[in-house]
Amino acid sequence: MKKMAGKISFLTALFVMLFSSLSFAATVPGGPSTEGKTNINSMLSYAEVVKILKNIEKISKGKVEVFTLDRFGKSEQGRSIYVAKVGTGEKKIWIQAQIHGNEKLVTEAALQLLKTYASNQSKNVQTVLEESTLYFIPMYNPDGAEMNTRGTMIMETGQSLDLNRDWAENSFKAKESTVVYSYWTELKPDFAIDLHHQGLKQVYGTNEATSFSLGISLAPDGPTLPNETDYNDVTKQMMAYVYDEMKRYGYTHIDRYQIVDSENQIGYDIDIKGGVVSAMMMGLNYNGLNPDNHSHPAVFFETKGNSSDGSLGQKSNGYLTKQNYLALKSLVYGYVTDEVEEVDPDHWNDIPAYPLAGYWTDYDGIVHVRASGF
Ligand SMILES: [Zn+2]
Repeated sequence: MKKMAGKISFLTALFVMLFSSLSFAATVPGGPSTEGKTNINSMLSYAEVVKILKNIEKISKGKVEVFTLDRFGKSEQGRSIYVAKVGTGEKKIWIQAQIHGNEKLVTEAALQLLKTYASNQSKNVQTVLEESTLYFIPMYNPDGAEMNTRGTMIMETGQSLDLNRDWAENSFKAKESTVVYSYWTELKPDFAIDLHHQGLKQVYGTNEATSFSLGISLAPDGPTLPNETDYNDVTKQMMAYVYDEMKRYGYTHIDRYQIVDSENQIGYDIDIKGGVVSAMMMGLNYNGLNPDNHSHPAVFFETKGNSSDGSLGQKSNGYLTKQNYLALKSLVYGYVTDEVEEVDPDHWNDIPAYPLAGYWTDYDGIVHVRASGF
């Protein structure tokens, strides 16, 4: 990042990645427009998601319970946020999708998995349902989903807001955030998976486009992950486990989630404190709702493409959804059976990644590897 030209391409690369912010995007010339080629009509609308949820509840014969979080409030535009609960086991698993409204296929993957748990009689599924209770939030951001925008809109000010920056001590500007956070503090899950889409990038050292990235929003061995917890190792084990499982299924082009400076062939791990799953790992106590600082490990998946920049081709949707579905299903199984604990945490380093130049943060800009002392 010595030259301005490098900086601009770097910023553009940042923009298309998950953790860029809307206000930031506005400063980037030539960013993706909403005139993309993707036909969002073929993606699930809010009404369709509600309908599918109710249908799954019905076919599940009592196994799945669908409810809203209305007792905590609704979205900025007055939509209910839905949860589907399945399983009878002790371990509570939180799966959330579409916190970014223009990241659509992840909702479909989450619903497919819910449907599997509702109707499939296989041994693996039964094990999962006996050992855990799963809580799906398939459409965290219904307003953004309907507007096909990344963020939501704060009705009082007309300002757009990235919901994945809003779980911070001095934030909680959107109603969605207080609704979901309130529920999270009441439920106290043991583990969370957050589903996203990302822009185009290439697997390091290849000419192949990444189809799936495995991410931890507080960088392992980075500046933030609390030392007193073992989340540093556990999250690495989880991602390495998924990586192996996906290879077993024949999926390639999977890498570690990074913000990539493609010109210089280097990458930045993210270390974002305001992200929802980061706040979960840090045990954020907002408004006195989490006085014991309950926390748990959390990871995220990134599937290629989103529905507002045209990078999501209709042709590949089935493949991408299935990949996401299998990764989710594998990780849940590995978690409930403790298979993930058998993985060597250092195996995380075998997941393809660009040479680490530093950490991309939401509190101190870019923290370089050397300067950070990590
Ligand atoms: Zn996202």
